[in-house]
Amino acid sequence: MFTLIRRSVARKNQANTLEVVINHRGVKCGQNNVCLDFFFIIVYISRAVFCRSFSKFELQSYLNNVNIQKYREPITRLRLSSHRLHIETGRWSNTPREDRKCTLCNKLEDEFHLLFECKAYDDIRVKYIKRYYRDTLNMIKTTELMLSEHVKTQRNLAAFIYHAFEIKKTITQS
Ligand SMILES: [Zn+2]
Repeated sequence: MFTLIRRSVARKNQANTLEVVINHRGVKCGQNNVCLDFFFIIVYISRAVFCRSFSKFELQSYLNNVNIQKYREPITRLRLSSHRLHIETGRWSNTPREDRKCTLCNKLEDEFHLLFECKAYDDIRVKYIKRYYRDTLNMIKTTELMLSEHVKTQRNLAAFIYHAFEIKKTITQS
């Protein structure tokens, strides 16, 4: 049994809300007097919006279904906003959100952009993501794709994200 609590904390002179999932054994205090859970996730309201749109606190089926480690890791990173897209790296340099753009397309470089918009990944997108998801872009279909329990869809999505991250590395290095 888990409990979701919210706490307001002062961080860089700005009030942020933390969501902390705690288990029945309770929480312990970490840095800045923020209560940290032993096992679960702390998510700032201002980040990980993508992850929060479909997260469920249970074992995710893709972890079993995507059985190739090199593909499983990137999809996990994307789901947890632990990646090098500008929407995240811009946070580290205090870049305003609206300026965290893809250098290729000049659009906000977030998870949605990687999955459906960025022209750098057009070729692999056609290969790995069904036309159903690629047509008529919206967050409903994005959520549907991320929540899909269909094994082949999950494996293809993981492969797409792996190859997209590899392409992004070459773009970043050039
Ligand atoms: Zn782009």
